[in-house]
Amino acid sequence: MIIMKTDATDEDIRRVVAEIERSGLRADVSRGDYMTVIGPVGDERKLPFDRLATFPGVKEATMVETPYKLISREYARFFGEPGAHKTVNIGHVHMGNGEPVIIAGPCAVESRPQLMRIAEEVKKAGAHVLRGGVFKPRSSVHAFQGLGAASVEGAEEALNWLKEAGNAFDMPVVTEVRGESMVELVAKYVDIMHIGARNMYDQDLLVAVARQHKPVLLKRHFGASIEELLSFSEYIAAEGNKDIILCERGIVPMGKGKSYTRYTLDLAAVPVIHNETYLPVIVDPSHGTGRRDLIFDMSCAAIAAGADGLMIESHYNPSEALVDGPQMVTPDELKDIIDACRRVHKMVRKPRA
Ligand code: PEP
Ligand code: MN
Repeated sequence: MIIMKTDATDEDIRRVVAEIERSGLRADVSRGDYMTVIGPVGDERKLPFDRLATFPGVKEATMVETPYKLISREYARFFGEPGAHKTVNIGHVHMGNGEPVIIAGPCAVESRPQLMRIAEEVKKAGAHVLRGGVFKPRSSVHAFQGLGAASVEGAEEALNWLKEAGNAFDMPVVTEVRGESMVELVAKYVDIMHIGARNMYDQDLLVAVARQHKPVLLKRHFGASIEELLSFSEYIAAEGNKDIILCERGIVPMGKGKSYTRYTLDLAAVPVIHNETYLPVIVDPSHGTGRRDLIFDMSCAAIAAGADGLMIESHYNPSEALVDGPQMVTPDELKDIIDACRRVHKMVRKPRA
């Protein structure tokens, strides 16, 4: 990491960037109110730190060992903003260090009428962003894969409905992109690109999505450590895209006995991630528990723990949903959850310094 003096000139910054690029690395230049910090992206061992430290305008040149330096709180601290907490703008919705942002909608987009009705009802319940899976990651190849899986035409039609529903009810929209070949198509229709838990480790997908220069929602793999989640989000930041929202969605339950929840929702991940990075963190209690009757409690707990938002699956008739019916709440239940979360937020959370 190269920290520039407060009076460093543009020419000083250009000289450092040129030296980094000459060594075969890229440079991430972050200009803060007080100073500029330059993060080399690539194999830092190739960099002549001792020599860089002597360049005009350079205050300090040091090697940072963490695998996720660009998204780290450390990095923000060098700007003289120790409490920096990023706001990610999703259309007109602002996520981070404010009122909790609620992303809601069906697990899967199943038809235009289904989506339009759910969009209208979740909006009335207080949701800010509409979700709906067009490509579903499924454990069984025989299960419904989402309307987008069958053909590009099918994908485009379902993506169009999503956009139409978002426009009709004034909500930005998010859908999961499951493979690199669909990245450009999905980017044309959505406001946030969602990378699902199963694909958290797919670094080529992460890079391709980051290059669309849209906000990215990255979910934690159910077997991943927090460090891995942060390290893989660095692939997005290294492309110059720091509009990243991280999502805790539960990890594999321990033990051999009956598990009462689909996954184990690791709510401690929320404050831990907030300590490590300036990025917003949300919680998905739907996949995290797999149980409609637990969504209220886990949503309130997530907000109390400092989550910047929630992603909740909702359907007017969960028992007719093709995917994840048991974990979907009705729009009426969603309204109760959102109202309670607002009260919890008011009571226990203050804007982070
Ligand atoms: C989803 O949000 O639609 C989803 C499949 O979740 P996850 O990737 O967390 O399993
Ligand atoms: Mn689902």
